[in-house]
Amino acid sequence: MKEYLERTQEEYVDRIIERVIVKNPGETEFHQAVREVLESIRPFIEAHPEYEENAILERLTEPERQVYFRVPWTDDKGRIRVNRGYRIEFNSALGPYKGGLRFHPTVYPGIMKFLAFEQTFKNALTGRPIGGGKGGSDFDPKGKSDAEVMRFCQSFMTELYRHIGEKTDIPAGDIGVGAREIGYLFGQYKRITNKFEAGALTGKGINWGGSLLRTEATGYGLVYIVNEVLKDQGESFEGKKVVISGSGNAAIYAAQKAIELGAIVIAMSDSDGAVYDPQGIDLDTVIEIKEGRRGRIVEYLEVHPNADYENKSKNIWKLDCDIALPCATQNEIDIDEAKELVKNGVKIVGEGANMPSTLEAIEYFQINNVVLIPAKAANAGGVATSALEMSQNAMWDSWTFEEVDKKLKEIMTNIYQNIKITAKEYNKEDDLVFGANVVGFQKVANAMISQGLV
Ligand code: GLU
Repeated sequence: MKEYLERTQEEYVDRIIERVIVKNPGETEFHQAVREVLESIRPFIEAHPEYEENAILERLTEPERQVYFRVPWTDDKGRIRVNRGYRIEFNSALGPYKGGLRFHPTVYPGIMKFLAFEQTFKNALTGRPIGGGKGGSDFDPKGKSDAEVMRFCQSFMTELYRHIGEKTDIPAGDIGVGAREIGYLFGQYKRITNKFEAGALTGKGINWGGSLLRTEATGYGLVYIVNEVLKDQGESFEGKKVVISGSGNAAIYAAQKAIELGAIVIAMSDSDGAVYDPQGIDLDTVIEIKEGRRGRIVEYLEVHPNADYENKSKNIWKLDCDIALPCATQNEIDIDEAKELVKNGVKIVGEGANMPSTLEAIEYFQINNVVLIPAKAANAGGVATSALEMSQNAMWDSWTFEEVDKKLKEIMTNIYQNIKITAKEYNKEDDLVFGANVVGFQKVANAMISQGLV
């Protein structure tokens, strides 16, 4: 009987992967995200036939609602431009849809769905009552004036407003969407709805409903969870060589916290290239370039002429380091980069970006005993703090930096403990990918079963 069950359950996972590929042709990132979750939890699905009986995998891989819309706007020359907007409301089993907006020219349904799918399990891991969603546009804010960005955001919200709300769907930032964009989006939402509904968006300015620490949360949360792994190994960040890809919000604040804990951050990057400063990156310079003047990382050399620059971002993974924190974008670490990192002595990989490692890279890290903290656990601090922002909005209150920081630390420690204990329960000690996927999946799937056929 057991053998029979195992065989059919195995077929169930394979059938679903096939189904996702057929129903979402060409959307390779979405296929990859589904495969990553389902392949890793295969033994768990095998042990629980109720998931197949309730068609949980069919339902979980089909977004509840997908909105695609036209975003017309005028540029500074008065020309009419048209972009495509998206909001994927993936799963509301645990709460209202929650997840960021990405503005980047590579945005298409495959990226939107992978992010929304991942977000569903990530949000479950936070322990907060939030479902999963994601949105964005193929609009490229790079090189656009403030006025152009504002007009784009206003047009985007003119459609989006009807789909969101504090109890329905709560967008936030992601790549290309920061404080400036959230401000313009919130302003337009308020104007159209005639409501100061603070809880309808997160990542707001701190004087108008935002939470202290939300800006730092993704990066700090990442370092807090890596620190838990280090503690388990009887180690600390003190003197560790850390490589951090990217120089956006997640990367900058991961670097800040790692440096505060005694690490030496030797390299950072952007989509053009990477800077290597063996004495340790001067973060103030990076912040001035990236946040102050929206410049390129190569400008670091103007202030620090002794640093090295590589005009290929992926070369950042060729450096010797103890800890790698990929904080740039999806699939930035493929098998070749994974091999380089292992060869150069990496011990821990903490994923700050969403899906930064390919399936082959993950497997390579695992067989080489590198501790990999998957994105849905490692970068959950951002969305968890968004949920804290929503709590403050609901109470018309605001908490101190220390209060929010304490809660963030607790959330990250809980996530780590939960996924570690679960992995151990299934004799997959140290497989944090398995642990995170099972904990997230179980919460969402069980809630779906309780709520009937929806
Ligand atoms: N975009 C972030 C993420 O990937 C944050 C989402 C949010 O705060 O809603 O989790």
